[in-house]
Parts: sequence; structure tokens; C-alpha cells
Amino acid sequence: MSVLIFIELDNGVIKKTSLEAILYGSKVAEKTGGEATVLAFGSADSSELEKAGHYGATKVLHASGEKLNHENSLAYADALVQAVNQEQSKVIIISKSGLGDAVAARAAAKLKAGVVSGVTELPEINGSFKVTRSIYTGKAFATTEIKSDIKILVVKKNAVEIDENALSTVQAVVEAFSPNLRDSDFKATVTNVEKAASELSLTEADIIVSGGRGMKSPDQWQPLLDLASALGAATGCSKPVSDLDWRPHHEHIGQTGIKVAPNLYIACGISGAIQHLAGVNGSKCIVVINKDPEAPFFKAADYGIVGDVFEILPKLTEAARNLK
Ligand SMILES: Cc1cc2nc3c(=O)[nH]c(=O)nc-3n(C[C@H](O)[C@H](O)[C@H](O)COP(=O)(O)OP(=O)(O)OC[C@H]3O[C@@H](n4cnc5c(N)ncnc54)[C@H](O)[C@@H]3O)c2cc1C
Repeated sequence: MSVLIFIELDNGVIKKTSLEAILYGSKVAEKTGGEATVLAFGSADSSELEKAGHYGATKVLHASGEKLNHENSLAYADALVQAVNQEQSKVIIISKSGLGDAVAARAAAKLKAGVVSGVTELPEINGSFKVTRSIYTGKAFATTEIKSDIKILVVKKNAVEIDENALSTVQAVVEAFSPNLRDSDFKATVTNVEKAASELSLTEADIIVSGGRGMKSPDQWQPLLDLASALGAATGCSKPVSDLDWRPHHEHIGQTGIKVAPNLYIACGISGAIQHLAGVNGSKCIVVINKDPEAPFFKAADYGIVGDVFEILPKLTEAARNLK
């Protein structure tokens, strides 16, 4: 089966979640004896796009041009449909994000394709085509059969693990792709993007150090920032912390904030309310630091430290620095 993988770039660099999508899509192609092709939008050097080959893709269709530099789900979905028709693709892989879900929904309507979002495993292709997806904010899994000719899978972060040592050295062939886009695709366009000051994006971060009301006040955040810096981690927080303006709103994690799925989530002085857990239970390993041994977060933790954050954080920071 020919597989088409929609990817996202950040300043011309392929996002980590998109690298995972390429690897996932290449494995689906390998399973079905097809080829994996990538579709990329906006400015990027060919040398960056060729890297898709290391993750198993044979070809990259590159739709460039000023109009495609900013996220636009209408234009991207239109172009995706044209790429699917050109490549005769049967499976479309998209990594889960706000943009990814919007593009998937639009493309599904145009292609009359079945779409499943939050996919966590490679599909079972055995006469039927079944995928496992995460439901109830990661608390359960559902198996879904897709019966349409074209299938769209929106893949959750960490669905496939990237082993840097197992990557190929092959480069993908990059081809210019010029979709016919309509004026109506650009009815609403992004004219300017102001990025959050934080250097690391929470949704892309491998490690997140996050603080709750247990950090006491905004001017007592330094021990948490020191640990984040020692680990090369992004920083997050609970909702009350951002509501109180202790930390910026873009750091708010949870049901009503950002949903994250890092390899390591370190929660400092966060109680573990269900609404916070809804945003973090895609994390591979959760470490909880809380002085209350009955804090609900411990039930969701892989490792728990019962103690005062202000005593524990400096020790962890020192240990992390010594390791480096
Ligand atoms: C509709 C709705 C949506 C919501 N959405 C979200 C959301 O998206 N994200 C979110 O986070 N919340 C959300 N909430 C709020 C949520 O219910 C909790 O109130 C909130 O997560 C609690 O934040 P917290 O753990 O920082 O604070 P608290 O509940 O006050 O917990 C502080 C914790 O710090 C510990 N602590 C105190 N001092 C120390 C110390 N010195 N050392 C170690 N530990 C210490 C305490 O034992 C306690 O467990 C939502 C609520 C509602 C009703």
C-alpha cells in the first residue's frame, strides 16, 4: 500500500513528532509492500527534507512558497488530497496536533476516507485493517476497524520509538510539488506568529519539569528552572499556577491546557487532580515530588518522592549536573 505522510516543519526543521510519523508510516508501507512518501509545506532546505530517508521514506513532495509558510489547514488539506491522488496513496499518516487533526478531518471529508485519531500502535492488517487508539484521555484503548478504501491515521506522540542507532543513511528524493490551490483556501490566513519565549516547545519536549501550587510563589520558581536547565527540559505548570499569573499561560498543562507526552514528566508540588492528569498521562515516565504521601498524583507515578520540593529539587539538579 502506498503511504503518504503529512509532516510539520518548525523554522524549516522537521518536528520530532513528524519524524515519528515518518517512521510509523514507513513501517506501515514496509508491512504492506508499498512505499512511503512525505508531504512537506513551506520553506525548508532540501538537505533537511532528505533526512526523511533516514526514517524510511523514499520521496518527499515539497510544496513551498510564501503562502504555505504559515499553518493553513484548508490549503494543506486541499494539497494533501491532490498528493494522495497523484501518488495513489491508500494510507495517510499525520502526527497528532491541532493542525494535524484539522487537516485530517478536512481531507477525510474530501476523500471519503475513514479517519482514526490518537493511534498508538501499528495497524493490524489481516484481511481487515484495525488500529488501536487511545481513548478517555489515555485511560483506555479502543480497537477500530477502518473499512474505507483510503484510511487516515492520526498518530499519537511516542507511538513509535526512534532509535537513533537504527536509522538508515539513505536520503529521500525531494521533488517540488505545486498543488492547485483556490483563493477560498486563503480566506483566513496567519499574518504573524509570535512564539512563546520558552525555548523548548512543550508538545515536542522529551523532558518536562512542571510545577504546581506547592512551589508556593512565582519568585520561588528558580529551583525548578535550575533542574529544567540541567536536564535540557521544557517547563510546565498546573492551571491554578497560570491563573495566578505565577507562570505564563502557554505553560498550563491539562484538560484545559496543553496535552503533553514527553519521555519524562517531573511534577513538583502538583496534587494530581484528574484535570491535570488528563494532560500528562501520555508521558512515558512520570516522577512525582510531593510532601503529602496521599497526593493523588502518586497513583499515576512511575517514581514518587515524598518530600519538600525545595529540598529535593536542588539535590536532583546537582545530580543531573554531575551526570553530565
Ligand atoms: C473544568 C476544570 C478544568 C480544569 N483544568 C485543569 C487543567 O487543565 N490543568 C490543571 O492543572 N488543573 C485543572 N483544573 C484544576 C484542578 O482541578 C486542580 O485544582 C489543579 O490541578 C490543582 O493544582 P495544583 O496541584 O497545582 O494545586 P493544589 O491542588 O493546591 O496542590 C498543591 C500540591 O502541592 C503539594 N505541596 C505543597 N507544598 C509542597 C512542598 N513544599 N513540597 C512538595 N509538595 C508540596 C501539596 O501536598 C499538594 O498536593 C481544572 C478544574 C476544572 C474544574
